[in-house]
Amino acid sequence: MDLNFTVATKRDIYRRQLEKELAELVDPKTNRLKSEISEYVACPLCGEDDEHTELFVVKGYPHVRCKKCGLVFVNPQVKEEKLHELYENSKANDLWLDVLMSSTESKARYELYERYFEELEKNTAHRTLMDVGCSIGDLLVVAKRRSWRAQGFDLSKKAVDFARNTRGLNVHLGKLEDFGFKANSLPVITLTGVLEHLNRPREILYRIRNLLSADGVILVQVPNLQSLHNMVLHEKSTSFDGRNHLIFFNPTTLRKMLSSAGYEVKYIRTYQAVTHLVCRYLQYYDPYQGGADFSFLPAKVRSWLEDGTKHNQLIQWLEEMDMGRCIMAIAAKQKNREAKT
Ligand SMILES: [Zn+2]
Repeated sequence: MDLNFTVATKRDIYRRQLEKELAELVDPKTNRLKSEISEYVACPLCGEDDEHTELFVVKGYPHVRCKKCGLVFVNPQVKEEKLHELYENSKANDLWLDVLMSSTESKARYELYERYFEELEKNTAHRTLMDVGCSIGDLLVVAKRRSWRAQGFDLSKKAVDFARNTRGLNVHLGKLEDFGFKANSLPVITLTGVLEHLNRPREILYRIRNLLSADGVILVQVPNLQSLHNMVLHEKSTSFDGRNHLIFFNPTTLRKMLSSAGYEVKYIRTYQAVTHLVCRYLQYYDPYQGGADFSFLPAKVRSWLEDGTKHNQLIQWLEEMDMGRCIMAIAAKQKNREAKT
């Protein structure tokens, strides 16, 4: 991880704008989301509508855990129609594209996606994919390098223009229902960084299942609720922003979600453990205002972290213990079974 990852990728500029936009939706009297734009929802995984434990509140957005199934989600959350309007007009979301376009960020993503494809290619013989919510097309770049036929679509004009004009990718502007895909026609569908943004993720999983060919697979990536840094930083982690990220899975709840939408999980694990944020926090620093710094850690811990071989070993252990930054799952259509509705 680059020493000044936050600044090198312009995450600091994006964060400031996002915080401004989030504050505009909060009622200063109650310090909670304004009631006219918010709604209470039942658990998006098991439907439990009452037994939710509040874990913490981030800038007016309560994050709760379902007592029945363990899913963590924002509740109340911004109403779906308001969310669409906010996405269309959000300067922060445009600035996020600048984060994605920085070369430091792309390099990290390419490395990650190469690892995804190694697993994907073991789980399907097809080499044609559709990337849902492809953004600037990082996954499509890696797919092309590996000789896949790949196309994608996204709602952001800025992202689509960049993917198409600068990178020469086969990318379209719009949403799933705009393209008239035929049922049972697509062999591989990928969704990275999509499900956590949706009020009702199971609905898109149903629709995608319907488009998949009989031997088709999906690849899904979401942030990991139980990553090392999320479990240590809680509401200080930028994963929890209230408006953009509405649902937080761990490998167990993601597996349940996929299975209840009619998929059979073939592969699931966590990737990219992050240590520098936790190390900063353990030294009483703001986790995000600066790069990796081990100066005030106990000397023995410091010497361990500064040894590249040991640090790499630590990252690998954390990924294996399901504490990586994100979860990637590959799932096939369950045979002989219709998805629950
Ligand atoms: Zn639940």
